[in-house]
Amino acid sequence: MASTGVRRTRYKRPACPFCRFEDQVVRIVYGDPGPETIEQSRRQEVALGGACAAPEAPQWYCRGCLRRFDAPGFADSAEAGIP
Ligand SMILES: [Zn+2]
Repeated sequence: MASTGVRRTRYKRPACPFCRFEDQVVRIVYGDPGPETIEQSRRQEVALGGACAAPEAPQWYCRGCLRRFDAPGFADSAEAGIP
């Protein structure tokens, strides 16, 4: 009952401040993506932010309205949510 049989990368994510949808929001991964990150990107579980990461670069990307945004206070819990 607890197992769905579907293995996905899960993390907490904020709702998009623009369209308010949560399930369209993915993390933005900066830097050189490894094979795992590329695979996650193909599954649209993360967005690739490019090699250059500015310190204030936004952490989240909404596939619904194609905007990047930051969710202050959210990053720490998101990290902790990754198994
Ligand atoms: Zn949105």
